[in-house]
Amino acid sequence: MTDSATADLSPPDLSGSAPTELPQGLDVLLIDGVLSAATGGGTFETLNPATEQVLGVAADATAADMDAAIGAARRAFDESDWSTDPAFRARCLRQLRDALQSEGSALRALTTAEVGAPAFLTSGPQFDTPVEDLGYYADLAENYDGWKVDLGDRVSVGVPTHRQVWREAAGVVGAITPWNFPHQINLAKLGPALAAGCTVVLKPAPDTPWCASAMARIAAEQTDLPPGVLNVVTSSDHSLGAQLSGDSRVDVVSFTGSTATGRAVMRSAAENITKVFLELGGKSAFVILDDADVASAATMAGFMAATHAGQGCAITTRLLVPRSMHDEVVEAAAATMASLAAGDPTDPGTICGPVISERQRDRIEGYLRSAIDEGGSFACGGGRSERFEHGWFIDPTLVVGLDNSSTVAREEIFGPVLTVMAHDGDDDAVAIANDSPFGLSGAIFSGDEDRALAVASQIRTGTLSINGGVWYSADVPFGGYKQSGIGREMGVAGFEEYLETKSIAIAR
Ligand code: NAD
Repeated sequence: MTDSATADLSPPDLSGSAPTELPQGLDVLLIDGVLSAATGGGTFETLNPATEQVLGVAADATAADMDAAIGAARRAFDESDWSTDPAFRARCLRQLRDALQSEGSALRALTTAEVGAPAFLTSGPQFDTPVEDLGYYADLAENYDGWKVDLGDRVSVGVPTHRQVWREAAGVVGAITPWNFPHQINLAKLGPALAAGCTVVLKPAPDTPWCASAMARIAAEQTDLPPGVLNVVTSSDHSLGAQLSGDSRVDVVSFTGSTATGRAVMRSAAENITKVFLELGGKSAFVILDDADVASAATMAGFMAATHAGQGCAITTRLLVPRSMHDEVVEAAAATMASLAAGDPTDPGTICGPVISERQRDRIEGYLRSAIDEGGSFACGGGRSERFEHGWFIDPTLVVGLDNSSTVAREEIFGPVLTVMAHDGDDDAVAIANDSPFGLSGAIFSGDEDRALAVASQIRTGTLSINGGVWYSADVPFGGYKQSGIGREMGVAGFEEYLETKSIAIAR
């Protein structure tokens, strides 16, 4: 997930706070409270996408390690009082927040090195904000007013009855996460799951194992989290994710990743009717209405598409503009995107860093070739950056001359690629925005707030930014309509994903 639009496009000045040293000792798993090597000692390399250099190795867990982690989480849930002690849970979450913050300098450096995340994002959604948000979940554990709801007396089917509705921790959570915002996504699962009283097995993406193992080391060494409550299993093998989602000892599978993998997760969870929570892909529309401030709308659209090289599921990647304003918007958006050429992510001024891997770069280039093959052209960018000898850099690219049936308008690219298309009024814009298998996010620019809200009410999507409003916040639910997912992360709705409901009826 990424931050939504903001009015100020200039990156913060990070000079003076530039981190230098990475955390050490990250080739470990966390299972049952113990930091250990993988069974058999297997490891795999984690790379810096800006340099292609090997940062070091992570523990390459086996199926036996995953089995042990699930067993530990099951025992911790069933045999300890973790799930019934919200004050203790809140304390542990605040300890984790404080410890992560105290190591913030090294962890921000790690995030830039391993994810290729531009440094300016690490003081926001790539690190600082999700860490701070652990405090929100700690507060929820203590103050949630839905643990026991009294419905009072009623004669039900002839029996005078006093009724209560209890909410209880759902059990063992299998958390499976992607690489694009690893801290944000890992913590947006652990925070509410632990606050709710669940125990967790986290399986992070193979591209960013160290972001998770650094958090695991800190949790093990600097918090009172009991053994088994939080387990972190890094692996180069996707099949460990399938193992986790198909294990009958897991009560909730909380998955963020591509829609294709989400389908596989749902299929394996179906075997045990395990509850699934899915945050999947997006192809969100940025809609400019004909009364909008064109210059700021086009600038914002270009900025959003370039941020973190477009590797955000909620990034708006289809730009819908009034036909009469098409050329003006293209010119302004292309100027913005050209000014945000791919750059060194450690530079505080960089907005567009590298993409995560060679495979991802090749995939994006394939989409750019499809745009040309289908009759489109580029108003700026168009492929890999020529400024770098090493690293996987793609320059921000504005695609013109295609309609909403084109491949680049239909499929999630996960690169800095924005496709601009003309619309013929508000109804047409809504129709194009909704003509997508996805429904994750979106943006509307208009001089008339009521008009923008009327358009918002017709777009089938989980979050919408109007005139640059920012929805990313711990108390705001985030998630998708249609093939963008099931359920909501963050906010009270996100916390309740990790609860079960028990109804009690007492004869009076
Ligand atoms: P991915 O789907 O390839 O992998 C995500 C995770 O699933 C990884 O940990 C991977 O090892 C694991 N996995 C792979 N196969 C599995 C299987 N069969 N069963 C269980 N787990 C399996 O995604 P990615 O390439 O790491 O990340 C990019 C995708 O994530 C994009 O599609 C993006 O839109 C999506 N994403 C969505 C959100 C959101 O909140 N909606 C946020 C960030 C990223």
